[in-house]
Amino acid sequence: MISSIKTYRLQHKLEESFGFSQWHYDTRNQLLVEIVDDSGVSGWGECYGPATVTQNAIDTFYAPLLLGWDALRNEAAWQHCWRASLDFAMKGPMMGAISGLDMAMLDLKGKLLNVSVSELMGGRVRDTIQCYATGMYFRNEPEDDLLNTILTEASGYVDQGYGALKIKVGKNIAFDKAQVKAMRKAFPDTRLMADSNHAYDLPEAIKMGRLLEEQDYCWFEEPLSPQHKGLFRQLSDKIDVPIATGECEQTRWGFQSLLETGGVQIAQPDLAYCGGPTEALKIRAIASSHGINVVPHCWGTQLNLASAVHFLASTYVEPGRAEVAEPLLEADRTPNPMRDEMYATEIEFHNGSVRVPTGPGLGVEPDRKAMEQFCVQQTEKSLCLKKPIPC
Ligand code: MG
Repeated sequence: MISSIKTYRLQHKLEESFGFSQWHYDTRNQLLVEIVDDSGVSGWGECYGPATVTQNAIDTFYAPLLLGWDALRNEAAWQHCWRASLDFAMKGPMMGAISGLDMAMLDLKGKLLNVSVSELMGGRVRDTIQCYATGMYFRNEPEDDLLNTILTEASGYVDQGYGALKIKVGKNIAFDKAQVKAMRKAFPDTRLMADSNHAYDLPEAIKMGRLLEEQDYCWFEEPLSPQHKGLFRQLSDKIDVPIATGECEQTRWGFQSLLETGGVQIAQPDLAYCGGPTEALKIRAIASSHGINVVPHCWGTQLNLASAVHFLASTYVEPGRAEVAEPLLEADRTPNPMRDEMYATEIEFHNGSVRVPTGPGLGVEPDRKAMEQFCVQQTEKSLCLKKPIPC
């Protein structure tokens, strides 16, 4: 039985900001959620989205709904939360809050049953997963210097064993074109992808898509703004490079509507935002029914990373063949001490790949002492605590 639900809002000021097509990051914010069973076992999750909002949504709205709930009934818990907020929160940060709770319940369930999350997701199809490095963000420096900075950073990942890299585009068309070509010239044998974070209008996306095809890129990520679902089909009709999108989309119903446009070839739900790891399984089934593969968007800390690892470990690649193209895990390599210095057990990268944890739950565990330096606000709702505790 769930006896306590705690949230931890974490923050880290970056030494150097980094940017993409929409803005520059100078501070990282993160919300972790801990669900404690009355046997004393904890399950952990994290939420993607505005941490102050998801913290309030969990502490004041969802946690009271789940206290006293059987910790093994995670599907029923999801539906309970969904129905309680359906009238006003079918999408948005409240679904981000449900996602973190769903992740924590799955971690807790795995620990209570002594099985890994990939076993709860249907069992492992593979024990190791190849990664692609996400990085090469923009810096505040002249564009000639920036291009060299990006190439140097990319070279470091290739030296570490990564066989696939994703760059950021959407700065301006001239720079984007130069960067796309320079990366291909510097790394002729590396798989490359480009992510505009919905920076382009349709004519720009067509031009960039044709260049990416010519330069043999694997996919064109978020070429268009997510609210214009119909434009994806128009773009897809004009370019040959696969279109990947979905990190701003949520729930099986959202992905059903996105994928039925016929303009998306790779679905990218974020497991800390789309409704949680169990909702991602439903999205995977819908993607499968459209003959589409899922490559989770992965940002944040070890909990979301581990969720994506278990999800991909249990993924059957469409359409299936003897020599199947293995799915790729997004390895966010941007600076983040809350990912790299805050966990007692973590996902380890070796030569551009990870081994799937086989222990109970997600297989990663926050270090409570290390969390303290990042914690700006903690809350707790408990069966025996009437008032929230101060940080
Ligand atoms: Mg992206």
